[in-house]
Amino acid sequence: MDSGISITAEKLVEVTAKYASQISVKEDEYIRAVGFSSKDMGKRVVARVSFWLVNQESTLLYCRLCNKGPFTKRGMFLHLTRMHHSEIKLLLEEEIKREIKAIL
Ligand SMILES: [Zn+2]
Repeated sequence: MDSGISITAEKLVEVTAKYASQISVKEDEYIRAVGFSSKDMGKRVVARVSFWLVNQESTLLYCRLCNKGPFTKRGMFLHLTRMHHSEIKLLLEEEIKREIKAIL
């Protein structure tokens, strides 16, 4: 495992949990996590991984990783960061690797 990928993934876990929980993520949060030059890559990766994390039924949020719920946005965010940190990080690493392959 490339340590750069691992570090980048770690930095994106919280942003991803937020995005997946439908809490708005500001532009500078992406920049803080991955730097200005990788901001767009960060957004793509976060959006793709978020798809696998949360199911929405009307306004209710459910965890796709363990089927728990329903959660509020804030509850969903806390659940993801507390219970699924390492799984989210792994998913991010896979997506980042895919992005790097696409560039090379
Ligand atoms: Zn869960």
